[in-house]
Amino acid sequence: MAIVRAFKALRPRQDLAEKVVSLPYDVMDRKEAKKMAKGNPYSFLHISRSEIDFPSSVDPYEPKVYKKARRNLDVFEDDGILIQDDKPMIYIYRQTMNGFEQTGFVATTCIDDYVNNKIKKHELTLLSKEKDRTEHFDACCANTSPIMLTYRKNERLSEIIENFTTTKTPEVDIVTSDEVGHVVWSIDDDALIAEIIELFGSIDSLYIADGHHRTASAVAVGLRRRQKNKNYNGMEEFNFFMSVLIADDDLNILDYNRVAHDTNELSSDEFIEKLEKFFKVEESKSAYKPISQKTFGMYLDKKWYKLTIKKSTLDKDDPLSNVDTYILERIVLNDILGISNLRQSSRISFVGGIRGLKGIKEKTDLYNGVGFAVFPPSMEEIMSISDAGIIMPVKTTWFEPKLRSGLFVHKFDSLNPPPIEGEISFETKEYIANVLKKISEQDGEQIEFVQAATEILNSLGPVLEQHPEYMDNNILERIVEPERTIIFKVPWVDDEGNVQVNRAFRVQFNGAIGPYKGGLRFHPSVYLGVIKFLGFEQIFKNSLTGLPIGGGKGGSDFNTLQKSDEEIRRFCESFMTELYRHIGPDVDVPAGDIGVGGREIGYLFGHYRRIKGAFENGVLTGKGLTYGGSLIRPEATGFGATYFALQMLRHDKTDFKNKTVAVSGFGNVAWGVCRKVNDLGGKVVTLSGPEGYIYDPDGICTQEKIDFMLEMRSNTNGVIKDYADKFNVEFFPGKKPWERKVDIVMPCATQNEILPEDAKRIIKNDVKYVIEGANMPTTNEAVEMLQKAGVIMGPGKAANAGGVATSALEMAQNSMRLRWTSEEVDSKLREIMKNIYNSCVRSSSRYGFGYDLIAGANIAGFVKVADAMVAQGKY
Ligand code: NAP
Repeated sequence: MAIVRAFKALRPRQDLAEKVVSLPYDVMDRKEAKKMAKGNPYSFLHISRSEIDFPSSVDPYEPKVYKKARRNLDVFEDDGILIQDDKPMIYIYRQTMNGFEQTGFVATTCIDDYVNNKIKKHELTLLSKEKDRTEHFDACCANTSPIMLTYRKNERLSEIIENFTTTKTPEVDIVTSDEVGHVVWSIDDDALIAEIIELFGSIDSLYIADGHHRTASAVAVGLRRRQKNKNYNGMEEFNFFMSVLIADDDLNILDYNRVAHDTNELSSDEFIEKLEKFFKVEESKSAYKPISQKTFGMYLDKKWYKLTIKKSTLDKDDPLSNVDTYILERIVLNDILGISNLRQSSRISFVGGIRGLKGIKEKTDLYNGVGFAVFPPSMEEIMSISDAGIIMPVKTTWFEPKLRSGLFVHKFDSLNPPPIEGEISFETKEYIANVLKKISEQDGEQIEFVQAATEILNSLGPVLEQHPEYMDNNILERIVEPERTIIFKVPWVDDEGNVQVNRAFRVQFNGAIGPYKGGLRFHPSVYLGVIKFLGFEQIFKNSLTGLPIGGGKGGSDFNTLQKSDEEIRRFCESFMTELYRHIGPDVDVPAGDIGVGGREIGYLFGHYRRIKGAFENGVLTGKGLTYGGSLIRPEATGFGATYFALQMLRHDKTDFKNKTVAVSGFGNVAWGVCRKVNDLGGKVVTLSGPEGYIYDPDGICTQEKIDFMLEMRSNTNGVIKDYADKFNVEFFPGKKPWERKVDIVMPCATQNEILPEDAKRIIKNDVKYVIEGANMPTTNEAVEMLQKAGVIMGPGKAANAGGVATSALEMAQNSMRLRWTSEEVDSKLREIMKNIYNSCVRSSSRYGFGYDLIAGANIAGFVKVADAMVAQGKY
């Protein structure tokens, strides 16, 4: 009874599959691998043969090479080149080559079946080769290439393949440069998956066709993990390895040929004379390829021969005597040529059938030795030998086409995170503390910035432990210092003719991964500390989106409330008169934030265009639709935060249906959240302003209520009490919505709006989730209390990244001079939020934090920027 299981494969983004897919790791040498991957950063060889990313002087078996494979795998995943499926599935993989077709199920099989000989082998493995893949899989926390297993044909399984592949559309359908076709379907129908599993359950044995070393390594890694996880239950992913199961009648076995590098000091005549005792030796006019068993082609001294085994040579009592490679090994290679250990000898080369007789000739000429062309064994022969527990001579079978790497990856930690590896060293702790101490000494009065830096730096210990290069390059001290801080005055004339002056800022915090990007905030509370905290958070948020944008932020202490349109225009124009010289589509791209909406962006853009005399609409985002704005941008932050929340709910196998949500603020983010929560079946029951909150038990869900939010915002005197008056609901002056008993809390107003006393209320109300729509709305102390009480936190820098991500989509549309539909932008936004969530989960578990989205967001955002900084030298 063979155990087969569905799994959540990590697979290439559909449009990149052709670039990602590569030949298996073991069919080329290092030089060939390097050549194949040249100019293709997506090639899976950067993972399966990561030594190609080092100079050739670096030993491919050094630990740093395996670490690099893992890093590359992480980067592929973080950049969305490889994406993990949401649910466990079984896949169908078909390959076509020269009219031949082989199709198999891709699933995981169990290490116990290998140990108990239900997955049978016919080859011995080399310890050194086995060790290589063991270290590789272990470092990657994944099976990076599948094993080819076969089984005696089962009619129903064949029928399933036939039905599925003729009625369903494949997800991947590519042809690689060697003209091999690769087609992939995924089976997500639970009933069909269950049937396939059951059908394999009725099969007694599976046989390794290709990948004996990989199997041994995958099993070794599984056993190693069992040792580390004494309480394993056998269902964890590390108990399984990735296989492609192909029926025996669907496989194509080619010959696997041999070239001895010398003739053991025998002349050609002496050698042939010795052969003639066992074989009939006939010279052939042309290259000779055997067409049946018991015959060989031989290439010696630039001549081809046909060898036929004499009957007297065969030993009827030896079950292996039917296997041609065995006879060749025993009589010719061992006895005549004196090559005793084929697996380790440097006097022999193996030439895969795909290289043809030409390959044998070339290798033989190279060494001036002797080459043998072999007739391949049948699949039935191989299975009978495996059933008898007999080992075939080394390299007897060559299967073609070879299963590609990169189309599927099986992660071990998809169900179980690896254990935390050791404590954080004193040196690392001291380094973080010293950087924080320096910030306090220099900028202690910038309270919000100190708070943000403390929160982020304190979660980076495990990352620094695993990446000593970050400390060597003093990345922390460099990342907390803005690359540029611009402070300028904004003089403007009010409606009474008085000249007013405000202070404005633009902090270009970090441009390592792209042009600075971040909003402008106009609010009386703005000072350098607020802009620096926002700019610092923005670095990580922008990095998390997976898009090439650096971090920055700006704004002014200007109060937009109670101002006329004309005053706002005059202020914006004066503001841009200074700012324009510091920004540009490839330099720094501001957007809106509190107090800066469509109207302000319009005035700012108009003035920029006037000064520059050019229509550079990529210079600002959040623009109006008539001059380069993107559909969905106004909704994006709120929609994105809700999509992020949905992922958190799905993690716990639930969703928004019938859930109540407390939201603070009644601005742009709150508006988007109300709309999307409503779409997803939930109900937002509170909104707030600085003066109090409203409670609407029916939910802010009708079009009229949602439109009224916009009206309140555009009305410069808008206060939240207006909502209570209009819809006849209760207003609670001086109070915050956190006193309400709800399922989910989503702060969407401003920083530090959830204080420790609010956290206490949230905990008392049994709230399970807090998702931050605003930036840093929860104080560090409150976060600690909430997390301790088991509340799951969705941090702002991840949850509200939908706004900046859609800004980047706006920039993309501007540079391509086209406009995507709402549906297109919304579906990209959804995908980005899902990827952000997944990369938070991955980073958190990878660095030993379990399921902690705050740590995950900090780490995932940090690593990409830190790597770019290391690569770019000391800036
Ligand atoms: P907004 O449109 O100006 O809305 C902010 C809302 O919060 C207003 O209704 C405001 O009321 C209210 N508010 C301000 N201080 C408050 C307080 N102490 N208590 C309760 N309510 C208060 O701004 P927004 O664009 O929605 O931004 C909200 C938050 O999300 C900010 O932290 C911002 O940085 C963050 N964010 C926004 C975006 C975006 O794309 N808009 C993207 C990422 C993050 P008053 O008008 O009466 O002051």
